Amino acid sequence: MKIRENVPISTLTTMRLGGNARYVIEIEEDKDLAEAYIFAKEKDLPTYILGGGSNVIGRDGGFNGIILVNKLHGIYVIDSDEKSIRLCAKTGELLDDLVEYSVKLWNGESYGYSGIEALSKIPGTVGAAPVQNVGAYGQEIKNVLHSVCVYDFKDNCFKHMMADELDLGYRHSIFNTGDGVGRYFITSVTVELNKNWLKPPFYTSLQAFFEEHNITEFTPQVIRDGVAAVRESKLPDPAVEASAGSFFKNVYISEDEIPAAEAKGIMVWGGGKIPSGWLIENAGLKGKVFNGMRVSEKAALVLINDSAKSYADLAKAREAVIDAVYEKFGYKLEQEPMELGDE
Ligand SMILES: Cc1cc2nc3c(=O)[nH]c(=O)nc-3n(C[C@H](O)[C@H](O)[C@H](O)COP(=O)(O)OP(=O)(O)OC[C@H]3O[C@@H](n4cnc5c(N)ncnc54)[C@H](O)[C@@H]3O)c2cc1C
Repeated sequence: MKIRENVPISTLTTMRLGGNARYVIEIEEDKDLAEAYIFAKEKDLPTYILGGGSNVIGRDGGFNGIILVNKLHGIYVIDSDEKSIRLCAKTGELLDDLVEYSVKLWNGESYGYSGIEALSKIPGTVGAAPVQNVGAYGQEIKNVLHSVCVYDFKDNCFKHMMADELDLGYRHSIFNTGDGVGRYFITSVTVELNKNWLKPPFYTSLQAFFEEHNITEFTPQVIRDGVAAVRESKLPDPAVEASAGSFFKNVYISEDEIPAAEAKGIMVWGGGKIPSGWLIENAGLKGKVFNGMRVSEKAALVLINDSAKSYADLAKAREAVIDAVYEKFGYKLEQEPMELGDE
């Protein structure tokens, strides 16, 4: 178990903001969690679980506690029949590495299992995927999640939980709500994938990409390559530009509210979804810079940290965007990434 002291949260998160964390512990084996539990009790400090830091914003006051950085590794086939396969991944693995593994597996007839190929190139670890039920291009982890293993910091023991115990929904699970927040360190994730490859029509931008490139055969690898190309054309690479991906959640309205919204010219998708990117773009904010934070020109729901010096700068930019959208459309946007530390 590696312990470091006074580590800037900005170096652990892709938005690159935040003061110092008192301690950082790298969790390399399951047994490190029990030791970290004892260390936290001895020091009487709170813990925070971190994967790749691509959905967490560090605050200026730092964190007078212990950040547990996930370095658990391994991907295993644990079960298969003629139609499906179960893969178990230790949660410090990159989600994208698990996707790559799944699309290259021989399924008895050809290469590739289906279920997570559209989640290609989402930054971050496998362990964070169930926390906010990651999703992209029509797939969500909840559709393939079989079960997870966790270390429960409240009961001080390991537990196995089935997917239907996790209350998975849009950007929602027991891990990011109520007393589940910070309680469970997810140590492994089991997904069930199958041989039924995706068929057109695909998510709009992906469909357009395939049509433009005359692609007509859709193996999981082809979907993965298509998603990667579409994402690359729209989303910032965290290694190059500091961001936390989508900064705002989409807005959902009830069926009764849809006619009034459409009468105002607002784009409403199935299920009453109003893409927050559409609202931000149509409030005229694309490319605008507030306190060093830029509204991405390519995907308006992404805020890029060009030169913000602090969380306070980000907070001002966030309020400017929320206010402008509210003034124009009457919807209050909500932040998607979680926050770590004291303001
Ligand atoms: C450019 C960019 C594009 C993105 N695109 C998408 C997208 O298309 N779809 C999407 O859904 N998200 C997207 N995201 C957001 C982000 O990649 C996902 O939320 C990802 O799952 C975060 O993984 P992480 O390992 O970085 O998690 P972190 O940011 O480290 O943590 C996120 C949350 O999960 C908790 N957590 C992390 N690991 C564990 C664990 N093992 N056990 C328990 N809790 C844990 C943390 O405490 C925190 O609350 C994008 C982000 C960026 C920067």
